[in-house]
Amino acid sequence: MKKSSVERKVIGTSVEGTSIEAWKIGHQGEIIHFYGGFHGDEPEGVEIALKLKDYLIQHDADLFQNKIVLIVPLVNPDGYKNKTRVNSHKVDLNRNFPTKDWTKEALEPKYYPGPKPASEPEVRAILDLMDQFYPQKIISFHSLIPHQLNYDGPAKKLAEAMSCYNHYPVTDHIGYPTPGSLGNYAGQERNIALITYELPEKISKEKAWEESKEALLEAIRFVL
Ligand SMILES: [Zn+2]
Repeated sequence: MKKSSVERKVIGTSVEGTSIEAWKIGHQGEIIHFYGGFHGDEPEGVEIALKLKDYLIQHDADLFQNKIVLIVPLVNPDGYKNKTRVNSHKVDLNRNFPTKDWTKEALEPKYYPGPKPASEPEVRAILDLMDQFYPQKIISFHSLIPHQLNYDGPAKKLAEAMSCYNHYPVTDHIGYPTPGSLGNYAGQERNIALITYELPEKISKEKAWEESKEALLEAIRFVL
């Protein structure tokens, strides 16, 4: 009997006790991670991660001879429920990674990095997942004006290949310092090709999928 190549896993629990779920599609080969909803007030990224998950589950046999795709559609379920950027400890999860540049100082309260690096269970869930299934590539969905494909680590060519499909601008700096971010942690310190995929704010899920679908499939196919 053919082994099913789709698995749902609980990878951790939020501050308020909600499960953080991951879908693993494919069972051998190069590993790519997709994350949505680090910021609870950016639902665009959650919606596209769910859309991608559904699409890949339907089409896995054609696409995944030599790939493992791990999708965490909602990293910050409490923030999503409460429509806040931060988690229930008021921590910006994208400033809570254990980087060399982690600092207690925050430019603004919305960037509060927490009492210490990796203090938050949502961040520890992602760190554990990265250790268990070490990725070559990570795509982390957010939304921002201006939309862009921002890269960290060895991801310039990957960003450019994706941009051929969605024509989003490729950038190597978001325009302000981001100590403790996933980009600094995974891209710069662990040498993983990382794309912070900034969708246009308020884009509908249909439009987002229409303009991003091929770029996301390219991210999976692309060989670094
Ligand atoms: Zn964001």
